[in-house]
Amino acid sequence: MPGIYIHVPFCASKCPYCDFYSVADRGRIDNYISAVIDELATLRRVGPLAGDLKHRAIATVYFGGGTPSFVGAENLSRLLLAVKDNFNVPSGAEITAECNPSSSLAPGFFETLAAAGFNRVSLGMQSAVDAERKKLGRKATAVDVETAVKACQSAGITDISLDIMLGVPEQTERSLLSSQDFALSLGVTHLSAYMLSIEEGTFFDKKRDALNLPEEDAVCDMYLSLCEYLKNNGFRHYEISNFCLPGHEARHNTAYWRDEEYLGIGPAAHSYLNGRRFYFPRDLDAFISGMPPVDDGPGGGPEEAVMLALRLDTGISLQEIKEKFAVAPSPGLPAILQKYQSAGLLTFDGDRIALTEKGFLVSNALIGDVISAMDGNR
Ligand code: SF4
Repeated sequence: MPGIYIHVPFCASKCPYCDFYSVADRGRIDNYISAVIDELATLRRVGPLAGDLKHRAIATVYFGGGTPSFVGAENLSRLLLAVKDNFNVPSGAEITAECNPSSSLAPGFFETLAAAGFNRVSLGMQSAVDAERKKLGRKATAVDVETAVKACQSAGITDISLDIMLGVPEQTERSLLSSQDFALSLGVTHLSAYMLSIEEGTFFDKKRDALNLPEEDAVCDMYLSLCEYLKNNGFRHYEISNFCLPGHEARHNTAYWRDEEYLGIGPAAHSYLNGRRFYFPRDLDAFISGMPPVDDGPGGGPEEAVMLALRLDTGISLQEIKEKFAVAPSPGLPAILQKYQSAGLLTFDGDRIALTEKGFLVSNALIGDVISAMDGNR
């Protein structure tokens, strides 16, 4: 079953490290909402690419951003209603909204979301240490985060994810520990832990030398200690950056890593449907004025499947890859896998390959090597 992603490209202001597409302009919200609703109703722009999507059951709906909560619970509910009016969204579908504690605290915010059918919320915490949050440009305090989590739970949405960021300016293992303790004390079911990466053109990129960033080795140690801590507290480390209590995996994102189909609507939203990848340009006005998506070529080859699946703790089965894509692993593959297994970077039982937590830390190089050795015809 495919998923639907709606990109909500609005934020109160731009965080200094962020290169996601968003604008700080309330004035264009109404036109954006109308453009998304129109597209959901007609699939005018993505019609030929969407095929028979309207007749298939939708497994997940995800509102990401940007800051979806910035447009208000009523607007998010209108968008979800448009999805439900135009697609087959069964009652068990996972429906998620990303929210920023500072803009989602209006009384009744989460009640409105719950009444519309949202059953999962992902909150941008980043750190429970206010000084660290401030460095990241976040205005809300840890108290705001706690208030938001409790309000969400009281409204009946108990599937809650918090983001934690590693490698924040001036962060230490000790300060990370206090963020971890804080997150778990709130009774959330999911955590996403991302390493701060300095993206070209961001404010942090320009000020990199003045940021007092922790050393790379220290950030790797923080990652491993976070993994250990969460495992000891009953969380499953099911993807490089994602941890959950049993049964609370993010189904929408997991479908990406399993190379399954999804439709993305909104500026900067990507899609993968009927073997093609396509995306809407990072341009709100172009989206509002009806610009069609841009073709991004075919998707779903063996390299892509391996690259995505190796992000998951379940890894890949060589037999499944062989059957699905008719590729013969190269004779050199076992030696490469054994080398990495001896280094503690992956496990290999003769069929299934899965990266370890140490392997996740060097996943780009590791996955590249495995992919190169997968196809014996090269
Ligand atoms: S709130 Fe999120 S999307 Fe918006 S600027 Fe900050 S990091 Fe980027």
